[in-house]
Amino acid sequence: MKITAVTAKKISVPLKKPFTISLGTITSSETVFLKLDTDSGITGYGEGCGIGFVTGETSDTVLGAIKLFETFLLGRDPRAIEHIHCDMDKTLVGNGSAKAAVDIALHDLSAKAAGLPLYAYLGGESGRIETDMTVGINAPEVMASEAARRVSEGYREIKIKAGSDPDKDILAISLIRGAAPHVHLKVDANQGWTVSDALRVMREYEKYGVEAVEQPVPSWDIAGLAEVRSRSNIPVMADESCFLPHDALCLARLRAADIFNIKLMKCGGLYRANQICTIAEAAGLRCMLGCMMESRLAIAAAAAFVAARPNVIYADLDSFHEFDDTSVISGAFEYEAPFLTLSETPGLGVEVDM
Ligand code: MG
Repeated sequence: MKITAVTAKKISVPLKKPFTISLGTITSSETVFLKLDTDSGITGYGEGCGIGFVTGETSDTVLGAIKLFETFLLGRDPRAIEHIHCDMDKTLVGNGSAKAAVDIALHDLSAKAAGLPLYAYLGGESGRIETDMTVGINAPEVMASEAARRVSEGYREIKIKAGSDPDKDILAISLIRGAAPHVHLKVDANQGWTVSDALRVMREYEKYGVEAVEQPVPSWDIAGLAEVRSRSNIPVMADESCFLPHDALCLARLRAADIFNIKLMKCGGLYRANQICTIAEAAGLRCMLGCMMESRLAIAAAAAFVAARPNVIYADLDSFHEFDDTSVISGAFEYEAPFLTLSETPGLGVEVDM
């Protein structure tokens, strides 16, 4: 099997409502769909969704990177995934979302060639996984009512965005706990606190049964992350500090995190995600699979990974909910909160109009 054509297309999708985190507000999402045709008549699909303030990528840089990768993708066997990653890394450092688009399409093709749904190709026994739902930053009362609504919709795990104002962050969690007494709660500060803010807020959070705090301090402050981890009783999750396998190894060595938030758009896809998950396993740490603002295509790839790796204990795969238009893409999974049930069709089981 050889790749015969590489087609990439930018799609802009308005969100149902603006989504705010400590780093900024998102009102619409642009994503890039990738199609790889082969001489065996099988087509593979991928997606790259860069978020400038996290990965340093835009849809245009994703398109530009894919154009560079096209020179060595044409004529290649799509199952040579590690070799193709080496060539992508030799061409461009970073650019995880562009690499993820290629990686997801290669995995879609490989699973289709094997006649297996992607989750089974990766080693999963069941295509049904549970996701949490994220509540963005808003007035604390509004956040509490949104959390209660999500619980009534069926969610058992909720992730709360924080990091804009420590006192407001504490108030929000106290109101959310009152409105949703039994839900599992995680908090994501998106780098918004100092070490002392984090320690103060997390001491308060202990009263409300917060189970993990994600990225309390800036991405570059690994010593600060380690300090928060050593002085807090709540497990610390690394997100913006953990892009690639070498970040995971560094965090594990420095005992700076208990959990890694793996995102296909940060690390470059399923192949690198697998490496990070294995580093975590070897270090006695756990993983979550998270997302940026990608559509159901890349979410399906991430969900397949969750199904395949028992060391992934949380899934935060909720971005596709915010998309207002699914006219270009269909299939991949059925959704009934809080469960995604992946398609049994070989590969991702996704249809893309492009
Ligand atoms: Mg995060």
